Parts: sequence; structure tokens; C-alpha cells
Amino acid sequence: MRRYSAFAIAREAMRHHSGWDRAWRSPAPKARYDAIIVGAGGHGLATAYYLGKNHGIRNVAVIEKGWLGGGNTGRNTTIIRSNYLQDPSAAIYEKARSLYETLSQDLNYNIMFSPRGVMMLAQTEHEIRGYQRTAHANALQGVATEYISPRRVKELCPIINIDGPRYPVLGALWQPRGGTARHDAVAWGYARACSDMGMDIIQQTEVTGVRREGGRVVGVDTTRGTIACDKLGIVVAGHSGVMAERAGFRLPIESVALQALVSEPIKPVMDVVVMANTVHGYMSQSDKGEMVIGGGADGYNNYTQRGSFHHVEETVRALVETFPMISRLKMLRWWGGIVDMTGDRSPIISKTPVDGVFVNCGWGTGGFKAIPGSGWAMAELMAKGQSPLADAFSLDRFREGRFIDESVAAGVAH
Ligand SMILES: Cc1cc2nc3c(=O)[nH]c(=O)nc-3n(C[C@H](O)[C@H](O)[C@H](O)COP(=O)(O)OP(=O)(O)OC[C@H]3O[C@@H](n4cnc5c(N)ncnc54)[C@H](O)[C@@H]3O)c2cc1C
Repeated sequence: MRRYSAFAIAREAMRHHSGWDRAWRSPAPKARYDAIIVGAGGHGLATAYYLGKNHGIRNVAVIEKGWLGGGNTGRNTTIIRSNYLQDPSAAIYEKARSLYETLSQDLNYNIMFSPRGVMMLAQTEHEIRGYQRTAHANALQGVATEYISPRRVKELCPIINIDGPRYPVLGALWQPRGGTARHDAVAWGYARACSDMGMDIIQQTEVTGVRREGGRVVGVDTTRGTIACDKLGIVVAGHSGVMAERAGFRLPIESVALQALVSEPIKPVMDVVVMANTVHGYMSQSDKGEMVIGGGADGYNNYTQRGSFHHVEETVRALVETFPMISRLKMLRWWGGIVDMTGDRSPIISKTPVDGVFVNCGWGTGGFKAIPGSGWAMAELMAKGQSPLADAFSLDRFREGRFIDESVAAGVAH
């Protein structure tokens, strides 16, 4: 595949852009692969990419029932940070964040990583103590964060009202190298690189069953026939419970809708990401000028990918005290994604009761930021049977009570 470069753009400009290759092939499925990944979201595609790049396993198919990146990966609000509390979380999220720093160069695809800084507002005494604790934990983990004063918050984000009557801003946990990236581009960049390595990305094809012999996976049934494989990675976010059932085991996962909305585009007013967990909302400004706004997940299990009026009202009402200027904005569009929640709000990257079947899920409301690290760990687990980054996130922790409690770090936060 031809590399994207300034010279390529100049060359194509001279010939009316007639020479660009397709970014990825759309092949018919082969009869057999060394590894099949179910789900062409960011995590599935990143897993395939690092299987090829780090472990030389390239006879790989990524099977997607819709279009690649059409699940949560293409629906999220793109916040990237690694300021979690527990050591295993900080390790995998910081690995991901650091890979994001150079992902555009690595993939030769501009994923528009923007390390503009992420702040999590402390608006109660309890949050001050919680975030100061996280800042200390992050210092020990080698994750660069600091606890900042309300005045510094105001300097960094002048549109914030720090003197709110109910919830004044009392400080914030600040991660200067957190930020955002273009969500579609992350999926497209990985897909292009996978296709370039000879992997097959098979869209519009649902995996409907998992074939097993003697407790081991031998292939999958799909809407385009049966395909044999030695290893299977299930990376389907909100459909993890459904796919696990098809493979013959159960997962401690609930699926709920998480919604977000964007306003009409306005001139630049905010060049950081702000999360306000007490009032339950967060906001950043996209490159197009839209205010990207999100809140908490729905309070009941469901599989819908639409937005709901009551949710928009709740989220905006919560944010207006802290950002009074948004009360005058018009909403442009809103949507939902099906997120996969575990009890301890930490992911599962694990072997399963079926030999050769691996699962990567439970990223809930905050897995976009983890895509490169998660793919790295899942690929290592599938290739070698063990990964230091994934060890703590195995399914065993639910049986053995080794929970990785991130309910504070991942409450509303993404
Ligand atoms: C509104 C919203 C805001 C969010 N904001 C943030 C944020 O700011 N920061 C952050 O870090 N995270 C955020 N998240 C979470 C993040 O989007 C997800 O954790 C992450 O994208 C999950 O990626 P994935 O690859 O696991 O899943 P997905 O992108 O959902 O991919 C899974 C794919 O599997 C496919 N699939 C399912 N079943 C089958 C089957 N049987 N056969 C074949 N294919 C199948 C689906 O079609 C889908 O494309 C947000 C999520 C939402 C919904």
C-alpha cells in the first residue's frame, strides 16, 4: 500500500486524485484463519494489528456484523486520559495513552491526537480528597497528573463558572497530556494497516455461533458460512454477553446505553477537556467547533443506540451551572452506544472456559482511550497465552474477589 505523505498529496493533486488506493480491501472470507477476531471496533482492530506487528501472526480475519468502527468506537466522545487509581489500570491506560502519542506515525494515518489536557473538577470536599489521593497514586505509577487550584482551573478554562451556587469548583485533577483523538480515524488507521499486512476485514457478516470440539474452538458460524480458526478473540463490547452465550459460557457483564450530544458549531471557546463528575457531565470542543457533551449511562439495561430527550435534559441541566454559556446553544444531534459494564468498572482481557477463545470487553463508558494498550495486551495474550498488562484483568478475579475497583475513576468519567 502506498504511504500517505505530503508528496503523495501533491502528486494526487496534479492528477485529480485519481490514484489513491482503497484504504482497505473487502475480501471474501477464506476457509480458515490462524486467528479470528469478532468485532471491528477499535479494540478488535488494534488486537489484529498488534497480532501482526508484534507477533507475526497475519493469517487473521476481523469479522464485523455492521461496518467497521460503527459501534461504540464511532459513537464516543474521544476523551483520552490515564489518571486511574489502581496500579493495573494506570499501567494499561498509560500504555495506551503513550501509544496514542505516536500512533499517527506508526499507522501512517492522521488520527488527530490532541493532547490538550484533561481536568476532572472537584466540586465537593469528598472529591478533593479523592482526586488528591489519585494524584499521589499517579505520582507513584509514573503517570503525570497534578491537583490544581480553582484559580488555575479558571486560567485553563475561562468559560467555567467556579463560583457556582450549588457546586463551586474547589480544584481539579489535571492531566496535561490527556486529550482527544478522532475516533473514526483510529478505527480506519488500524483497519488500513491490518489490510496492508494481508489480514481480511470482513464487514456485514455476523458471527452467529462458535464451533467447539473437545472443549476447544475450531471455528465460527457466520451469516456467510462456517470459517475454521485456531484462536478466537471476542471483542464485541455491548454484545459480549450474547457472543459468550454462543461460545458456551457466561460473563459478568451488563449492557446499557450511554448517550452523548453535540451543539451547533461555535468559535473556539475551550481548548481543554473538562469532566464534572459530581454534576454528572463533561464537555470538550471538537475541531469543527461543536461542543461535545456527555453524561452518565442509562439507569437500566438495554441495547438501544439512540438518544433520549430526558437524558439530554438531565445532562445539560447539570452542566449549565458550571458552564452558563451553553444555555444559549442549540443542540445539533445526539445518539447512544451500547456499553459493556462490569461490577468493578474495569475491563476483562482474558482466557475463557473454552480453549482458544479469548475475550476482551467490559470497557464500559471509557474504552476509547484504552484502544492501543488493550489491543497490545490482547494480542500478546492470544499469541503467547499470557500478558503482563492483562494478567490482573482476567475473568478469575470475579471468582476470587480480586476486584479492580475503578467506580470512582470511571463513574461518569470517560
Ligand atoms: C456516548 C459514548 C461516549 C463515550 N465516551 C468515551 C470517551 O470519551 N472516552 C473513552 O475512552 N471511551 C468512551 N466511550 C466508550 C468507548 O466508546 C468504548 O469503550 C470503546 O469504543 C469500545 O470499543 P470496542 O472496539 O470494544 O467496541 P465497539 O466499537 O462497539 O465494537 C464492537 C463491534 O462488534 C460488532 N459485533 C457485535 N456482535 C457481533 C457479532 N456477533 N458478529 C460480528 N460483529 C459483532 C459490533 O457491530 C461493533 O462494531 C464512550 C461510549 C459511548 C457510547
